[in-house]
Amino acid sequence: MATHRIYYDDSFARDFEAQVLTCEPCVHGTTPAWEVVLDETALYPSSGGQPCDRGKLGDANVLEVRDDGDDIVHIVDRELQPGPVHGCVDWVRRFDHMQQHTGQHLLSAMFQERFGRPTVSFHLGAELSSIDLRGAEPTAEILEGAERAANRVIFEDRPINVRYGTPEEVAQMGVRKEVDRAGILRAIEIEGADLQPCGGTHVRRTAQIGTLLVRRCTKIRQDWRVEFACGARSERLARNDFRLIARAASSLGCAADDLADAAARVVAERDANFREIRNLLQRLAELEAASALESASADASSIRIIVRAFEENTHTDYPGFFSTQLAKAEGVIALVGLKGGGQLIFSQHPSAGKDMNALLKRTFERFAGKGGGNRDFARGRLTDGANIDQALEFARTTLQEQSQASAV
Ligand SMILES: [Zn+2]
Repeated sequence: MATHRIYYDDSFARDFEAQVLTCEPCVHGTTPAWEVVLDETALYPSSGGQPCDRGKLGDANVLEVRDDGDDIVHIVDRELQPGPVHGCVDWVRRFDHMQQHTGQHLLSAMFQERFGRPTVSFHLGAELSSIDLRGAEPTAEILEGAERAANRVIFEDRPINVRYGTPEEVAQMGVRKEVDRAGILRAIEIEGADLQPCGGTHVRRTAQIGTLLVRRCTKIRQDWRVEFACGARSERLARNDFRLIARAASSLGCAADDLADAAARVVAERDANFREIRNLLQRLAELEAASALESASADASSIRIIVRAFEENTHTDYPGFFSTQLAKAEGVIALVGLKGGGQLIFSQHPSAGKDMNALLKRTFERFAGKGGGNRDFARGRLTDGANIDQALEFARTTLQEQSQASAV
């Protein structure tokens, strides 16, 4: 015997009396549960993009509701005895689902009727729902046009009717969609706006959908996924949008309406400041390098080795500017580090004749790190930034030993 579906004719039934026909143990996820079949139910199973209901059967919590051919199977968290049981539907969850689902009928109809974009799938999500549209990319005008048209039908508070008929009768009523099911079909009519075959749950009048908001549109394979929300979800989204805008406007010290201009201005200022800081750092590096060169003494082969470890709070670009500046001078080798991050930069004027890449590699054999470069310039990073001073000293000693060896 097929389960009688109370929601087909009364989607507003929240409480019902039924008979437990069977109750079999099963597993839900990893926990023990029971599969219950009733003679009739108001609980809606997962179907057509709409998640299933939750609720209670007697003292048992309904964890899931599944369509199983003609039967509806309720997964519950405790065993039920055969016989009469009182059932109830988690109404907040169900009404929200009915708002989103009925909103989907209406929104799909507007995209189809006005803009020739058929809906190929529907998903009712936890925060937002979405439909996938076939055809060319919907422009902003199309998205806004469908949203406005749907809301107009909502404000007109039109009745939503359940109609039954054979496939031929339903086709005569004006259902466009081909249906390959025999027998009596159920169709949902939004008066003057839409007629769709559907076995789901819907609100009674369009005003119950509440305001419909269209959100993002993104490409999914060959289709266009349009996100939307209805009812209390729209209220939450609008409230959240307002809070975000107010917070951003307050941070930028502007009116909400000026937010986009103010943000663009702040980004432009940031970019200009960034360029200016780089110029100043460059200039400072030139001066510091000149002063370091003055006080550096050359060895027997007229090579000047300059070693410098910068403190942790130094701008990360600065060690690079400084060492590049030093290596412009004849016979100079610059061994530069940045404490904290463990950044190392070895550079030389080509006339110094050493191999910076080989020197960095040798340093990393002694102190773990990663990096590379060429003869005149090499950079890397020590695994442990605390080793900067020792690593620089090791590199200097290595260079000096090389010079002494070549002098001998
Ligand atoms: Zn439906």
